[in-house]
Amino acid sequence: MLQTLKLDTFTNEPNTDFSKDREVQALKEAILSFRQELGKDYPVIIGGEKIYTEEKITSINPGKTDEIIGYMSKVDREMAETAIQTATNTFGTWKQVRPEKRADYLFKAADLMRKKRHEFSAVLILEAGKNYEEADAEVSEAIDFMEYYGRSMIQLEEDTHYVKRIPAETNRLTYIPLGVGFIVPPWNFPLAICTGLTVSAVVTGNTTLLKPASVTPIIAYKFVELMEEIGLPKGVINFIPGDSSIMGDYITGHPLTRFISFTGSKDVGLHINELAGKTAKGQKWIKRVNAEMGGKDGIVIDETADLDAAAKSIVSSAFSFQGQKCSAGSRAIIVESVYDELIQKVILLASELKLGNGEENYCVGPVIDQKAFNTILNYIEIGKKEAKLVLGGVTGSEEGYYIQPTIFIDAEPNSTIMQEEIFGPVLTIAKAKDWEEAIEIYNNTEYGLTGGFFSSNEERINQAIERMYCGNLYINRNVTGALVGVHPFGGFNLSGTDSKAGSYDYLKLFSQGKLHTIQH
Ligand code: NAP
Ligand code: MG
Repeated sequence: MLQTLKLDTFTNEPNTDFSKDREVQALKEAILSFRQELGKDYPVIIGGEKIYTEEKITSINPGKTDEIIGYMSKVDREMAETAIQTATNTFGTWKQVRPEKRADYLFKAADLMRKKRHEFSAVLILEAGKNYEEADAEVSEAIDFMEYYGRSMIQLEEDTHYVKRIPAETNRLTYIPLGVGFIVPPWNFPLAICTGLTVSAVVTGNTTLLKPASVTPIIAYKFVELMEEIGLPKGVINFIPGDSSIMGDYITGHPLTRFISFTGSKDVGLHINELAGKTAKGQKWIKRVNAEMGGKDGIVIDETADLDAAAKSIVSSAFSFQGQKCSAGSRAIIVESVYDELIQKVILLASELKLGNGEENYCVGPVIDQKAFNTILNYIEIGKKEAKLVLGGVTGSEEGYYIQPTIFIDAEPNSTIMQEEIFGPVLTIAKAKDWEEAIEIYNNTEYGLTGGFFSSNEERINQAIERMYCGNLYINRNVTGALVGVHPFGGFNLSGTDSKAGSYDYLKLFSQGKLHTIQH
């Protein structure tokens, strides 16, 4: 029996309570058990066939760089071509599978991931450098995407989409799939975003080519393996790790690619968007690109705000997962009259954050790789010239890519560290004369993803809601941690196409509306 669940039965997956010893123990056992698998070879999967290639991507533990997580096989152009042909052929059958049956695969996968949640967390901890809470919350989010999009599909199918009634005709608008989607997730939520981007396309009846981020391919493989385990037909998800500049561009530009679901940096998103805009020979459609990109998110604090609450939110928004979230509050803009007082509170809280391995559940862990490590340190050097360093600015243990939580104050609105996404544990603070100027400084960016406003003044809060230009605005709380179905997520300007992941509208991005009219 298929479960035809409605959207109103959706609830967010609860996170694990790590104050309970047995939960900590269970996770530690899962880490130990995954340690037994370290250094294994993993295959590419095309049409259900597992292929081990000679050339491999080496995935390492960013917290202990001499530890190899696994070797991932890589597709070249020829295999990419096979994958796209396979996905195209499979689309012919998959699109005919009933929506509620497609949704049922997602519900089954969610159930199984729930059972294996610590196994998934263990991989996230070792491969991406997450701590327990961050890894666990990511697993919850992945489960949420499956439960939510499964229900959204059923609802989308059942809803009577508004068309005006006229005599002598029946008109109905339905949503049908697009075709083959190229799915490109980032490494910072290498399970949740990978799951969300893939299952949204799949549940709407499309087939996919999934290219994981090259620093986190093993967790993506675990997701694909799970989908295989619950019996998703072969060829619906084709798993194709590889060199993005070679086979990535090949697939983006391919005439059989119908849409691209990308989440990652601004530069890559714009590149994909541009390439997808060229019509290839034999291409029969305009490619659709959903690109969710970077951010230079910030929190504005006025003099009526609860400063202790603001300090906590600033610190957790800036430094959770080492600031490597698109939603990270990397800027704080504070009004003059409470500037010094609030800065002291922020520095105090941030200086208490302990830096170390995710495996031992340190608050702040390693950044993802050597490249990120170098880039962040370079921004810290720029920051030292542009503003005043008041905390951190130095590296941690040489075992991994550790950087101390770093804070700059007195930054100018147009300075590099106020404008560019650093994507690491670096917070930049600027002073404003009043709340209105603070909002102007907040808006002075090419991005527009998350924003925060701390105030107890209702009129100003209403003004902030109107004036702060971003996809996700949070009043008197952190700017990270969007919940599926509760806080639909996506940004403005060069933060992306505002596709609003985790909303009911989302699935329409992977569908096209078909109207049929029956004359009586
Ligand atoms: P990235 O470097 O842009 O990579 C993202 C993905 O794109 C990776 O899978 C990457 O593969 C792939 N890629 C690179 N070049 C490509 C090409 N020419 N064709 C096809 N794919 C290509 O971003 P990242 O460093 O993984 O992630 C961090 C960024 O993502 C930050 O800017 C962050 O703000 C943003 N982000 C945004 C959101 C959001 O919802 N707005 C959410 C999370 C993260 P390789 O790994 O093989 O290069
Ligand atoms: Mg790694």
